[in-house]
Amino acid sequence: MDYQRTLREIADEVRPLVGRGRIADYIPPLADVPRGRFGMVVRTIGSEVFSVGDAEERFSIQSIAKVFSLTLAMRLEGDTVWERVGREPSGTAFNSLVQLEVEHGIPRNPFINAGALVVLDMVLSHQAQGQDLVLDFVRRASANPSVGYDTSVAEAERATGHRNRALAHFLKSFGNLRNDPDRVLDAYFLLCSLSMSCAELAAAFQYLATSGLSAGGEQVATARQVKRVNSVMLTCGVYDEAGDYAYRVGLPAKSGVGGGVVAVMPGRFVAAVWSPCLSEKGNSLAGTMALELLTTKTALSIF
Ligand code: GLN
Repeated sequence: MDYQRTLREIADEVRPLVGRGRIADYIPPLADVPRGRFGMVVRTIGSEVFSVGDAEERFSIQSIAKVFSLTLAMRLEGDTVWERVGREPSGTAFNSLVQLEVEHGIPRNPFINAGALVVLDMVLSHQAQGQDLVLDFVRRASANPSVGYDTSVAEAERATGHRNRALAHFLKSFGNLRNDPDRVLDAYFLLCSLSMSCAELAAAFQYLATSGLSAGGEQVATARQVKRVNSVMLTCGVYDEAGDYAYRVGLPAKSGVGGGVVAVMPGRFVAAVWSPCLSEKGNSLAGTMALELLTTKTALSIF
């Protein structure tokens, strides 16, 4: 498989789409990200890395980080996670409030914002003062101690994230947050502000392609947990574009409003792509096309 040649072809073919769509400027620092960026990495389970474009530039991974917090919560709490959050596609926007009222404070899945808040609340209940279990997990999964938060992004979301505040307090009113909503929100804004490159993300997600073995050779999740995280990514990872992704890409994937998307081909590779302009549903336009081209050109998908 000539992944390098495939990536070069993909970069050429998506070029007309790069810069089309809208940037997630509701998070003020993201408005300044250059629209023309495009980077992509394929990392095989043998840790061979192929890349094209802006693959080493760090960006705000936003909701991609919800995969790490979910894996961690499953490690800490096992199947009881699913008593407080569902695992069905939402069919609504990632920051919607409507469903939560109807469904009595149990978020549809761990990847919409409400679900991620509940998952983080679980993690915080295991966290002693001064600890940061999420950051520790991300650094272990990626075998990269330099990964960290962009606190200016976290601060900006803290100042402007009124909808997330509403969600957290709404969850609290239903009794589905154990901790103080402001503590959960602070952890949430930090989680979303993780700053990583495509190359770093591909390494961090390696455990999802290898039944739990990290880029550093450490077992960071069980095979059972990996199967479950991948299945929730397939059905819920790109919000109400999940059906379109399964159809066009055919891989479990997780996106963020920073324009990153990571897709997993279990037993073969992880692909990470970044281009900041988004579709109406909040997923990278060029990134989605790039992943569709990857599975088309390689004839590799889970189907
Ligand atoms: N921090 C963003 C928010 O809460 C994350 C959304 C996303 O990446 N889809 O709105």
